[in-house]
Order: sequence, then structure tokens, then C-alpha cells
Amino acid sequence: MNGPQIRNMAVSVIGAARSGAGVARLLHSQGARVFVSDRQPAEKLKISLEAFRSQGIEAEVNGHTERVYRCTLMVISPGVPSNAPVVQEALRQGIRVVSELEAASWFCRSRMIAVTGSNGKTTTTTLIGRILGDAKKKHVVAGNIGTAFSEVVLELAETDLAVLEVSSFQLDHCEQFRPWISVILNITEDHMDRYDNSMERYAASKARIFMNQTDTDILIYSADDEWTVKTAGKAPCVTIPFSCRQEVQNGGFIRKDSLVTSFAGKRAEILPTDQISIKGIHNWSNALAATLVGHLAGVSTASIRATLKNFKGVEHRLEFVREVGGVRYYNDSKATNVDSVGYALRAFNEPVILLLGGRDKGNDYSRLEQLVREHVKLVVAIGESADKVVDSFGRMVSVTKADSMEHALRHASRLAQAGDIVLLSPACASFDWFDNYEHRGNVFKELVNRL
Ligand code: ADP
Repeated sequence: MNGPQIRNMAVSVIGAARSGAGVARLLHSQGARVFVSDRQPAEKLKISLEAFRSQGIEAEVNGHTERVYRCTLMVISPGVPSNAPVVQEALRQGIRVVSELEAASWFCRSRMIAVTGSNGKTTTTTLIGRILGDAKKKHVVAGNIGTAFSEVVLELAETDLAVLEVSSFQLDHCEQFRPWISVILNITEDHMDRYDNSMERYAASKARIFMNQTDTDILIYSADDEWTVKTAGKAPCVTIPFSCRQEVQNGGFIRKDSLVTSFAGKRAEILPTDQISIKGIHNWSNALAATLVGHLAGVSTASIRATLKNFKGVEHRLEFVREVGGVRYYNDSKATNVDSVGYALRAFNEPVILLLGGRDKGNDYSRLEQLVREHVKLVVAIGESADKVVDSFGRMVSVTKADSMEHALRHASRLAQAGDIVLLSPACASFDWFDNYEHRGNVFKELVNRL
């Protein structure tokens, strides 16, 4: 173990949902005296205090009491921001505060592969897991991706691999976390509110992924965006770039419409880009990053090639739903920012009917103008921000306002002709009409399946 001796240590865990419960159980099993605290009521969290108590863990819900500060170590769940009052107060009192990821990593016997970036984390982390799984390499996939690291870390043997999706919030509270391979996919504006609107600060947070790496470790990074290149320049380990725009030395790139790696003195033709199952140039980046990880983990080129041909992507990310009368329907409900809609539009050569709108986070749609002119024949404006969508695109393309998803899809399918694409890629959060982006995507898919 690299972390502190935690036997008999008083530890407060903030957040009683999945990751919080996972790390509480982990630390309790290692002899810590654990207290869990959540500001939400138990019903909302879908947990019971009894369940914690029966495992020997004390817990409170509905707000944090003073007891939460009677500890030597505070562990925070991924959903708890650094500027939450409970974290700020703990820091003020001199309490050591770490993320769930950091605490779990203290007990990790295997090597870790950690993926971060503004977009593409879930897709790439899942794809790396698939590449390892198809090659029969023992591994777990965890982090911000269904399973918390602390839930599975003790299962890992020395020769296994942990593939982790890592957000900047978790990195903000890491101290000793040291992956064998770190991956930075891209650094573009996101969550600026949490970083005082400073790209420097946001990039510095991403850079924490490699801060403990040494020359026996590796950083894989995109050479296609300025902030990622700048950040990678500070890495204390071996660095391997990938690019969809240029042929990089010792890394992964596209040559004559094929994915190629040239690396450790070996060159490998992976496969033509049109045989990669997941669409769009952004997914070629994800595939390049995952391929480089696969090589480093000893997976053969043939096996990586087969996985890239078969991997259908992750639900709600440019997910193909169905073809009806020559019209293909795609669900990209996870596209909650303008950037991801841009990438989705670039993925198609066919005319697109675009369902766009929802809860707006101050979107600047002018960045989409050119792409909308080139790719979109009709915009169907949905959600709270429908009027803003009409105002933004009405001058360049025909726009219809819909008052429900059902209405939107009915309209889109009526106007679609064989060869068209109907794409839900909203650029907005979903909380106006839906519980979350999964709910929005599922409603869309159900309606498409009923057409
Ligand atoms: P994250 O886990 O970082 O949010 P996801 O894999 O869930 O990323 O994808 C989120 C959205 O971003 C989807 O709309 C997806 O199509 C798009 N996307 C995926 N990979 C990239 C990338 N490399 N660059 C830009 N957008 C991407």
C-alpha cells in the first residue's frame, strides 16, 4: 500500500451513493473507523442507513453535521465539487481531503491505465476494456463509468490491469495516484465555472493525471489540440502522441485513410477508417488512443483490428438506432455541449435532420453555423431553449419548433427522405423535459422503434 496507514483512522466519506458506499466499505474492510455523510435525503439516494450500519459503518443523510469534521481523512465522492462548503470547511480545519479514486488506488496491486479528457472518456475507456477483453487479458473497467474503482480494487491481482475513466474533479484531489499509462484525449472548454473560467486551471487539473508518473510510465496524448500539447510538454514520463491531422513521430496517426501506428521501431497498419465501427473523426482519435494502449499492453494488431471492427460504441453516443424506409436514426443524447454536436455533424456526408435544444448552458451556436449550412436540411428545435434555437438557425436553414419529443420525431420522420439521417444531438442538458440524458435517449429510441 502506498497510502497512509488507515487502521483505526477516523475517516469521513462525503457522498453516500455508489462511489461513497464503495470507498466506505473498502476503508472499513481495511480497519478504518468510517463515517459517511450526505446532504441529500435517503429516499433520493435510494439507500438506507440501516444497510450501512449492518456493515459496521456509521452514516448520516439530509445534511452534514459537525461530526463530519471529527476525522483525520476526508474522502469525497466524484460528484462532490471542491468548492462544496463541506470540503472547504474541512480544508480550512487542516483535514486531509482526497478523492475516492486516490483512496482506492492505495490498495491497487495491479497496473493502472487512466483516461481523461473533456470528451470521449467513456467511449475510449470502454474501447480499451474491449480490446483487453477480446485479447483475454484480465482487467476491470471502473471509475466514472458504472463501477466505482473502490468496489473492485481488491479483486485485482498484480498481473491484471485496471482501466479507469478519470474526471478532473477526481484528479483535483489526488496526491499519490500514479497510473502506468495515462491518456489525455483532448482539453477543450468544459466546466469552466468550476475553474474560475480559466483554461490554465482546467488544464492544470488534467495534468495531475501524470504528476506522479516516472520514466517507466507513459502518457498518450492528442497532438491535435493546443492545450493538450502544451500540457503534455510538462509530463515527467515517456510521451506518445496521436493525431488525425499529421503523421507524428513514434505514435498513432491516419495515413491514406487508414489507422497506422509507428512506435518502438515497429510500424503497424491497423485498418482503414471506414472499417472502424464507431463513426466520425473524433472516434478515430479515440480509436488511436485505445490502439496505442492495446499495443503497450501486448495485444496483437490482428486482435485490435478485430475489436475496432466490432465495437459498436457506447449507448447514447452517436448510437445507431434503426433504419426505416432508407432513413437512418441516431441517438447522440450525451452530446450536451456544442463541441460534441459539431463532431456528430462532421461524421455524416448525408443530409441531416437535427433535433437540437434542451436546457441551455449559455451555448454559443454561432460555432455551428458553417457545419449546419453544410450538413443540415432541417433543425427541429426541442426543449426549453427551442426559441433560441429558432433564432440562431432560422436564417440559414428551415427550423421547426416541437413541443415534445414525440412531436419532434413525428415531424422529422415525415419530412425525411430515403438517404437522410435523423440525429438527436441536443447540445444541451436534458433536465427540462427529462430526468437525465439517458432518459432522453431512451425516449427517443422507443419512439424510433415504434415508427
Ligand atoms: P465523456 O465520457 O468524456 O463525456 P463520451 O464518450 O461519453 O465522453 O462522449 C460524450 C460526447 O462527446 C458524445 O456526444 C460523443 O459522441 C462525443 N465525443 C466522443 N469522443 C469525442 C472526442 N474525442 N472529441 C470530441 N467529442 C467526442
